[in-house]
Amino acid sequence: MAKQTIADIPLNGKTVLVRVDFNVPLDESQQITDDRRIRMALPTIEKILTGGGRAVLISHLGRPEGNGQDEKFSLQPAADRLSELLDRPVAFAKDTIGVDARQKVDSNAEVVVLENLRFNAGEKTGDINFAEHLAGFADVYCNDAFGTCHRTDASMVAVPKAMQGKRRVVGFLVAREIEYLSDILADPARPFVAILGGAKVSDKIGVIENLLGICDHVLIGGAMAYTFALARGGHVGDSLVEPDKVELAKQLLQDGGEKLILPVDTHCGDTFAADCNKQVFVAGEIPAGFMGLDIGPQTASHYANLVADAKTVVWNGPMGVFEMPPFDAGTRAVAEAIADSDAISIIGGGDSAAAIEQLGFADQVSHVSTGGGASLAMLEGKNFAAVEMLDQVD
Ligand code: AMP
Repeated sequence: MAKQTIADIPLNGKTVLVRVDFNVPLDESQQITDDRRIRMALPTIEKILTGGGRAVLISHLGRPEGNGQDEKFSLQPAADRLSELLDRPVAFAKDTIGVDARQKVDSNAEVVVLENLRFNAGEKTGDINFAEHLAGFADVYCNDAFGTCHRTDASMVAVPKAMQGKRRVVGFLVAREIEYLSDILADPARPFVAILGGAKVSDKIGVIENLLGICDHVLIGGAMAYTFALARGGHVGDSLVEPDKVELAKQLLQDGGEKLILPVDTHCGDTFAADCNKQVFVAGEIPAGFMGLDIGPQTASHYANLVADAKTVVWNGPMGVFEMPPFDAGTRAVAEAIADSDAISIIGGGDSAAAIEQLGFADQVSHVSTGGGASLAMLEGKNFAAVEMLDQVD
C-alpha cells in the first residue's frame, strides 16, 4: 500500500489542502485539554512551509448538530494553538467554503485553518458540490488525518476524487500509521504475537479473525476472555460477558486452535471497586459473587514470556480494568514486557494507547497509533477508500 508522501513531491509555490485531525478535546471554556493531535500534524505542516508551499488545513471537531450550539465546536482554539506551536501567524476562516474561506485562501497567509468541516452538512454526506469547492482551494491534496481514514466523509474521499490530476499524497502521520499497521503486518518478523483485550469480543471479532490468519499467537485478556471462558463451558461468576457472542467465541476457538491463548487465572473482586474483596481464581472457575477484573499473575507472566520471545507484537485493549488499581497489574505486566522487548511493537489506538501512556512506556515502543476506530479497522485488514485513491509509489 506504499503511498507517495508529502516528502516526495515539489512544494515550492504550491497551496496544499491538508486534511488534518484537529478533533481535540476542549473544556467548558473552549480551552484545549490535550493538544497531541495538533502536535502530531506539525511535521507535515512544517515540511510544506520549509518546501516553499502554503498550507490550507481542514478538519472536523466533535459532532456539531446545527442546533445553534455549534460555537463550542469551532476550530478557532485549534488554530490559535497551532499558531503558538508553529511560532508564526495562522489565519482562521470563519466558514468552510464561504466568503471568508475564499478570502483567507486568496490572501498571502502561509497557514490557513478553515472552520469545522462538519458545520457544513455536506461533509458527512460526501456532497460533491462541497468537495469541489474545497478542492478548488489548492494545487495538492494531503491526507494526514489517520483518525478519520476509515471514514468516507467528503474531505476524505470526495475531495481527493475532485482533485484527480493533481498530486494527492499522505502526510507523515498517515504514512507512519500505514507502515506499522499495514506494511509491517504484511510481512512480519516472527514470532508474531498479538495481545487483544478490552471490554467486548464484539468490537474485536474482525481483528481476532484477521490476526489469527497472520500471527503465531493471539493472547486474549480483558472482559472478553470471560465470553471465551463461557464458550469453553467455564463458570465466570458475575463477570462482564456477552452471552449472545458465545457461539461466535466457540467458532473462533475452533478456528484459532492452539494459536488462540486464553488466561489460565483471573484476578477477581466481589464488587466493581478498588477496595473490594479480592481473590485469584483458576480461569473458568469463578464462583457466583465474584467478577473477573484482570488477568491473574500466572497468565500475566505467561503472556510476558511470550512477548519476550516475540519479534513483532501488536497490542490492542487492556488486560483488565486498568483504570482501577490493583486491577491494572495485568495490563502493566504486558506493557512492561512490550517496553522491555526488542520486538517491533505496535500499540493500537484508544484505550491501549491511553494505558501505555498512563503507565509511562509510550517512548519504549515502536509505534503508538493515533486512531481508535481507524487502527482497529486497519488491524482487521480493511482497505480504506480515503487512502486507496492517493498517489502510489511507482
Ligand atoms: P475497549 O474499549 O473495548 O478496548 O475496552 C476498554 C475498557 O475495558 C477499559 O475501560 C477497561 O476498564 C475495560 N475492561 C477491561 N477488562 C475488564 C473487565 N474484566 N471487566 C470490566 N471491564 C473491563
